[in-house]
Amino acid sequence: MTTLIIATRNAHKVQEIQAVLGSQFRYLSLKDFPEAPKVIEDQPTFPKNAAKKARELAKWLQYISGFEYRVPGASAYVLADDSGLEVDALNGAPGVHSARFAALDHAGAAPDENSTDADNNAKLLRLLKDVPNERRTARFCCVLSLMQVKPPQPMLAGHLFEGTCEGRIGFEARGAAGFGYDPLFMPSGCEQSFAELGEEKKNAISHRAQALTKMRNAIVTLIQGGNRF
Ligand code: IMP
Repeated sequence: MTTLIIATRNAHKVQEIQAVLGSQFRYLSLKDFPEAPKVIEDQPTFPKNAAKKARELAKWLQYISGFEYRVPGASAYVLADDSGLEVDALNGAPGVHSARFAALDHAGAAPDENSTDADNNAKLLRLLKDVPNERRTARFCCVLSLMQVKPPQPMLAGHLFEGTCEGRIGFEARGAAGFGYDPLFMPSGCEQSFAELGEEKKNAISHRAQALTKMRNAIVTLIQGGNRF
């Protein structure tokens, strides 16, 4: 069985990826490698940050001692997810800075210091407080990068898979499911936030689910072409 090492410490991302891809893979995440170096996400775009995360982790993993015991199975790949929220009334912000949106206001904040979801959501609501409903359009974006560990190289042509989910930002946080900006984001045609819809409904339409579906299709095509995965 192939092992996917998900390049995140975010348990919600891991849960969503596992729920969408199912039991055909074995999963590990950075929780299983607490000593893994932190990758600074300083690139200007989601694809560049996703590729950087996947490449740096794959390079580190190939030399760790006991790799064969810690990552059982025939083959191992790093799966990196870089994602975020683009709000039209804020010219696309927070974008690649979604995880540390509130921390951007603190001059001394370290480049890898993320903010709490509550702080990020409060800042977003504050910046949009005078913006009317019709101008609160936004989208979630997700870019996945899939990188073989030994040797560390992109497995599939392109190796980047993108998904977006259009919607708008509400006037207050609603719902308890999910993570990040989910309580503020209502997908198009829906009056409930992602956090009210819950995991199953979110996973049917989300940016992450769309990118994962593209990736799975590319893997199937690869295998049908007689390649190993
Ligand atoms: P990164 O991909 O680790 O740089 O962080 C992505 C950030 O974007 C998260 O910390 C969330 O704030 C936000 N984000 C990405 N995907 C989602 C989602 O599905 N729901 C809510 N917030 C998200």
